[in-house]
Amino acid sequence: MRNYEKHYINGEWVESTGSETEEVINPATEEVIGTISLGTKEDLDKAVQAARDAFPSFSQTTKEERVEMLEKIAAEYENRKQDIIETITDELGSPLEVSENVHFMMGYNHFSQAAESLRKFSFVEEHDGHTRMKESIGVSGLITPWNFPTNQTSTKIASAFAAGSPVILKPAEQTPFAAIILTEIFDKVGVPKGVFNLVNGTGDVIGDGISSHPDIDFVSFTGSGATGEKIMKNASETIKKVALELGGKSPLVVLEDADVEEAAKAAVNHIATNSGQVCSAATRTLIPSSMKEEFEEAVQRVLPEFPVGDPREGNIVGPLVSEKQWNTVQSYIEKGEEEGARLLVGGTGKPEGLEKGYYVKPTVFMDVDNGMTIAQEEIFGPVMCVLTYDSIEEAIEISNDTVYGLAGYVYGKDQEELRRVASSIRAGRVKINDAEADFAAPFGGYKQSGIGREWGDFGIEEYLEVKTVLGY
Ligand code: ADP
Repeated sequence: MRNYEKHYINGEWVESTGSETEEVINPATEEVIGTISLGTKEDLDKAVQAARDAFPSFSQTTKEERVEMLEKIAAEYENRKQDIIETITDELGSPLEVSENVHFMMGYNHFSQAAESLRKFSFVEEHDGHTRMKESIGVSGLITPWNFPTNQTSTKIASAFAAGSPVILKPAEQTPFAAIILTEIFDKVGVPKGVFNLVNGTGDVIGDGISSHPDIDFVSFTGSGATGEKIMKNASETIKKVALELGGKSPLVVLEDADVEEAAKAAVNHIATNSGQVCSAATRTLIPSSMKEEFEEAVQRVLPEFPVGDPREGNIVGPLVSEKQWNTVQSYIEKGEEEGARLLVGGTGKPEGLEKGYYVKPTVFMDVDNGMTIAQEEIFGPVMCVLTYDSIEEAIEISNDTVYGLAGYVYGKDQEELRRVASSIRAGRVKINDAEADFAAPFGGYKQSGIGREWGDFGIEEYLEVKTVLGY
């Protein structure tokens, strides 16, 4: 059992001022694996005060000092590798392989990339007649979701540290233990007192408290659109800058000349990775009408390469994070059937032999119309909608017919066509074929997918203010 009933404030683990606690459930076993304390507004006030007190000196540290700090964090993060992998598998249900190759790896890359980007970052720029200075924004409040316990936390913290901004982190209640490890890492490498503060708690108390706090200058949030909207409203009362990374309903456009097998594999991989609980996942696969039969066959062929089951036993698709999420996904699958989409594989209910744990059958709907609920709303589970198109113009139109704009994917061979589609998709990140991950590349959304960009130098910019000095 992991019982972490303390917060980390001003460089120390401290008792919560409240007595409420919350149990953390392993989604694969449905068993309680530990508890956290639910912080109070008083705990938050103490953390904000600690961060405020740390601001004058931390914001004045040199770039070299902060590069060194980030490098030490990355090295210690690496030392905790096994612990991070197993913790995420237990609290989120992601298979060990995914915890290692996706979750662990992303956190590591954000810290080392931030050090790299910071090394090249210019905080003072001379222009004709004026000087531009980039200075730390102040105290930042970070609110993160459960689906990537070390990715979203690490990108926000690494960028804030690079910019010289002290932070208060409130991780998701469902997956708090990875953040405890991060806190232990910061403590071990000697992050100055008050620069990093962790307050566990609910969204209604600590999340709401962060977004409305008069002494917090900036809020960076990743999570649902509904919560993002509340945060933006709350933050407006103190004219606080917000960065929001919200949902998506990203298209994967398969071009006429694409290798069908590869495209089907890529599409299935999107819904399988992290059990489809990925905001940038491709959940609408657009194929040429002429490819329909071939694509259906390819999907059925590649699906067995993504076995569902115990995340500690070499499977690729683990359970969903919670019963609540399981119910949400079930209701979307029902809705898809009601609306007339054709179920190719999967469906409602648990996969055979997996009655315990929040497992879902990977589900693929054919004959989806883009107006259907399942094509418009974010499902956050292993559910793929397949739509057909008759011309590239139509594919682009369908791709952009969504309130979201987080990501897009294009598969094919014709370079000109690939580029044309990539530049026509209204989204913050478009990937062509199997382009490699790049942690220096900005990440964020158009439209209702959010405001702002994270990762690399764009991530650092979020935690900075721009000052112009004339006559310097
Ligand atoms: P989900 O419904 O999938 O849990 P949320 O967007 O509600 O997604 O959660 C993401 C993060 O936002 C979590 O850390 C959660 O505690 C927090 N949160 C929830 N409600 C609020 C709120 N009203 N204000 C600020 N943060 C919140």
